[in-house]
Amino acid sequence: MKYDYYELLGVSKNASSDEIKSAYRKLALKYHPDKNPGNKEAEEKFKGINEAYEVLSDAQKRQQYDTFGHDSAASSSGGGGYTQYSGDFSNVGDIFGDIFGDIFGGSKRSSENSQRRGEDLRYDLEISYLDAMNGAEVSISIPRKDACSACHGTGSKDGSSPKQCPKCKGKGQVRYSQGFFSLSQECPQCRGRGSVIDRPCYECRGEGTTKNRKSVTIRIPAGADEGTSLKVPGSGNAGGANGYPIGDLYVVIHMKQTAGFKRNGDDLYTEISISFPQAAMGVEYDVPALREYVKVRVPSSTQPGTVLRVREQGFPKLGRKSRGDLYVKINISVPKSMNDIQKRALFEYAKSMGEVPKSAQFQSDSLFKKIFK
Ligand SMILES: [Zn+2]
Ligand SMILES: [Zn+2]
Repeated sequence: MKYDYYELLGVSKNASSDEIKSAYRKLALKYHPDKNPGNKEAEEKFKGINEAYEVLSDAQKRQQYDTFGHDSAASSSGGGGYTQYSGDFSNVGDIFGDIFGDIFGGSKRSSENSQRRGEDLRYDLEISYLDAMNGAEVSISIPRKDACSACHGTGSKDGSSPKQCPKCKGKGQVRYSQGFFSLSQECPQCRGRGSVIDRPCYECRGEGTTKNRKSVTIRIPAGADEGTSLKVPGSGNAGGANGYPIGDLYVVIHMKQTAGFKRNGDDLYTEISISFPQAAMGVEYDVPALREYVKVRVPSSTQPGTVLRVREQGFPKLGRKSRGDLYVKINISVPKSMNDIQKRALFEYAKSMGEVPKSAQFQSDSLFKKIFK
């Protein structure tokens, strides 16, 4: 299948060589196989943009392509469609260095980091609104790699030290060429560690670590919210046979819904139902607000659906002394049953409002349905 080279790079037909270069650079970084391991689509795309750039960055090839299309340019580098460029790339020398700086600078740094210490771990923890309100201590059990007890984390059966890997000379990475790209890959002999052990420990097969389940106590600060990440230093995976330090544990907080409440940032939302006389004449109401009752003054003539704000009765603001607010929505409830005295009182009230026909009988159910409409 043949693609339009300009479309592949996302540039116009009259793009300058700088525009083409910058578009290519962006796409090559995005679709580079190192960043998309196992992703066939990205791999195809990567091949495509390399081919497009190979043609469009060369003034002569570009002109040929503009005039004759794929048949000219692509065939000059061996067949149509996506091809592996394997020729001289002196014309792309300047950009080459840039890209390698980004791709391998980036990935090398991270792989060096993971080699210098044990992996960081992530644990997703669901907490209640009440725990977020008060703060809490929670004990969690995490699967992690600890230093092997048989070899004390050395990975070696007889206590001998690891020696430099002969294949990668201790770098942990080997380079190989793919087209005009030279790629770095984890060394297959030492699996990226840079060192090998002559007589590995039976227990951990030379890794220096064994899988365990460890209990860790997490202190959740008051005000923690969805997505809050808590770092627990030194509770990640052990560093293994090379004696690197232990990684960290990151606990990511999720909020468990609590019936009757909603959280929005540091604000807490709830609803109460009061009676018609309370709404009409006003009331001081004890609103249940997670950990305590909060006195709320409902003013007279409050309409259904009114939302009252109570300052500083929401969640604590993480790392600050202030708090969010409490919002209380007012619902008005209609009695499900009434005794005769209540019915009479209501009838009198309705009559005073001119709502009851003179001939009506207040005991009649249909009449009361009418009144309550
Ligand atoms: Zn061991
Ligand atoms: Zn190696």
